[in-house]
Amino acid sequence: MNDYVIAEPTRPTLPVKGSKSVFPVRRVYCIGRNYAEHAREMGHDPDRDPPFFFQKNADNIITNGRFKYPVMTEDVHHEVEMIVGLKSGGKSISVADANNHVFGYGIGFDMTRRDLQQQAKNMRRPWEVGKAFEQSAPCGELIPIEKTGVIDKGSIKLSVNGDIRQDSDLAAMIWSVPEMISILSEYFELAAGDLIMSGTPAGVNSVMPGDKMTGFIEGLGELTIFVD
Ligand code: MN
Repeated sequence: MNDYVIAEPTRPTLPVKGSKSVFPVRRVYCIGRNYAEHAREMGHDPDRDPPFFFQKNADNIITNGRFKYPVMTEDVHHEVEMIVGLKSGGKSISVADANNHVFGYGIGFDMTRRDLQQQAKNMRRPWEVGKAFEQSAPCGELIPIEKTGVIDKGSIKLSVNGDIRQDSDLAAMIWSVPEMISILSEYFELAAGDLIMSGTPAGVNSVMPGDKMTGFIEGLGELTIFVD
């Protein structure tokens, strides 16, 4: 037990379906433009260029179902994504071995201050102000892979106040979850507790205080988040 000079920060965690124990989050890796239709709507060619990644902070995760509309923005977007929690890691993980490192899957929202992200893109600056702000990663519970099996296809949707905004299939990912894990593990040493947000399909759009966002992924259920 360390004797810290200040209060120890709280370790972010995710609930686990069917368990009283929780999943401790170490890092949060996000993949950009992983669905062709979303790449197109953001003005890019959806070819199979190598994927690119950015990070959120683990403490950007919220699990209380309420997203407080953030400061310094006038355009906050929803991005529904399948999240993947790792139970182990390493370097240079092969695609064939990648699923052996998966603890489980869940639903998460990569909330984005789109105006700040666009500014950053225009000025060739990093994305943190657009992506890695407080409460920017509302997440649901993880469901262990033993219960779900490997998930590589199935409906993924997001509605706002009952209107469907995003509607696609996990099979439409340009880079699959095992490919993502493998490529990430070339750049970074992955470890237990790492969480991957696997990209969002087309249909991203603004939310406002008072909105109710509901994400759905086949086999994983629903995640409802209220915008305060
Ligand atoms: Mn995203």
